[in-house]
Amino acid sequence: MAKHKSSKIRKGDTVEVISGKNRGRRGKVIKLLKKKDRVLVERVNLVKRHQKPTKTTQGGIVEKESGIHISNIALVCSKCDRGVKVAYKFHAGGEKVRICGRCGEELDV
Ligand SMILES: [Zn+2]
Repeated sequence: MAKHKSSKIRKGDTVEVISGKNRGRRGKVIKLLKKKDRVLVERVNLVKRHQKPTKTTQGGIVEKESGIHISNIALVCSKCDRGVKVAYKFHAGGEKVRICGRCGEELDV
């Protein structure tokens, strides 16, 4: 499989929206939509959808996350308390880790 440039963002990351109408909002990445270069961020960019009633749900209008383009989000560095550019460094064992492009803090926990 080809390496994807969006791999700097991973599921479970806390990200900040850096452009668009949701700018400044933060949330956790709940899903990567790799083919579309988009991610779903928890409780951000919600869209209302009509859902038909089923045996288990009442139906009606539900709010669901809609994909945000990867170029519109940045990984949040807890030390800088803002969305930052991701850089990389290698541990002695050869392990590649993500670090904050601003302060150098390791972002992989
Ligand atoms: Zn930082």
